[in-house]
Amino acid sequence: MIQTDFQELEERFGARNYHPLPVVLSRGSGVYVWDTEGRRYLDMMSAYSAVSHGHCHPRLVKALTEQAARLAVTSRAFYSDRLGPFLEEACKKTGMEQALPMNSGTEAVETALKAARKWAYTVKKVPEGRAEILACRGNFHGRSITVVGLSSEMQYRKGFGPFPDGLKVIPYGDPEALRHAITPQTAAFLVEPIQGEGGIILPPHGYLAQCAVICRQQNVLLIADEVQTGLGRTGDFLACQHEGIRPDGLILGKALGGGLLPVSLFLARREVMQVFGSGDHGSTFGGSPLAAAVGLEALRVIEDEHLVERSARLGRDFLAALEKLESPLIRAVRGRGLFVGIEVDPEYLGARTVCERLLEEGILTKETHRTVVRLAPPLVIEAAELDEAVIRIEKVFHTLGREARKVC
Ligand SMILES: *Cc1c(COP(=O)(O)O)cnc(C)c1O
Repeated sequence: MIQTDFQELEERFGARNYHPLPVVLSRGSGVYVWDTEGRRYLDMMSAYSAVSHGHCHPRLVKALTEQAARLAVTSRAFYSDRLGPFLEEACKKTGMEQALPMNSGTEAVETALKAARKWAYTVKKVPEGRAEILACRGNFHGRSITVVGLSSEMQYRKGFGPFPDGLKVIPYGDPEALRHAITPQTAAFLVEPIQGEGGIILPPHGYLAQCAVICRQQNVLLIADEVQTGLGRTGDFLACQHEGIRPDGLILGKALGGGLLPVSLFLARREVMQVFGSGDHGSTFGGSPLAAAVGLEALRVIEDEHLVERSARLGRDFLAALEKLESPLIRAVRGRGLFVGIEVDPEYLGARTVCERLLEEGILTKETHRTVVRLAPPLVIEAAELDEAVIRIEKVFHTLGREARKVC
């Protein structure tokens, strides 16, 4: 079959809930993927940070295949020799006391919200049925009905209501807005340390630290959604560490599966996690021996290959190089670690056009929010490969700039 056949097949038999770029991928290794015609692309998106370790990392593939041949799925009706060691390592690395394994990031967010509500009723003594959750405008925490109930994005919500009660949205980056929104019924404040899908939005320096103080003073749980920012993406193991804070609850996903499996965790202090009794919550596949073996190896590879330090060092140089790009089409360049966004001027073009041109130049990425080109390569990328990416990005903006002038 040729590329367009595969595209047509997906479109005929698949729901139209995505609008992929016109490339059909069939193989990956490290920072590169190949299409069905054998053309090679540099992956500058890494599946929304799920592929931070690079495609088909040999150690992770080995952990996956060995465990798959040994014991893959047991359900949580029994103990396994893989889950405990994985949870122990995740707790040690994050400074949390206990962890609850799920699969997708959305499920781990749901788990956090359930924990927060039950904590509010049983520990904080909020009257039954009154607990409130606060989140931020522009957030992205997933796609379930409860989670889009927290979204401020019309497209994510429209047609999917009614939503659960007790969900409230406040401005991002404004600690005073948090202080004012808290009531005696507030259970938790759910926040991304950097908004990823929202457009790589960095809050003002000190924001999270101030939120942590406010939450502690008012007996509200601070829950950090680090599904995208965690595990080295922003140049620290957790983005929370840039501000020296330890949240009450933490959500990890995406890269935790080593680019191979959906593996997520909700981690918390014991006082929070102990609200879950036997039978309160669960997942058939969550924490399977297969997921645990891959998750543990994913954490070890991050340490052994110094992916956090690489993200900080390479990200600094990459951001500096992008900031030097001179183009009337670029409004702003921002980021932290290897988590960078280029905001384009919508007067001239949409970010999608830039992504389509980058594809022709052999670079894969995806726009977020129409105006932001996201650049989040695997953390195993080399400096020379980033330099090459900068050259091609520059070329694309140069060409698009010339075309824009002609139109005007
Ligand atoms: C991707 C993402 C999620 C949802 O994860 P899924 O695995 O797609 O369910 C939640 N929170 C953040 C911050 C994310 O980036």
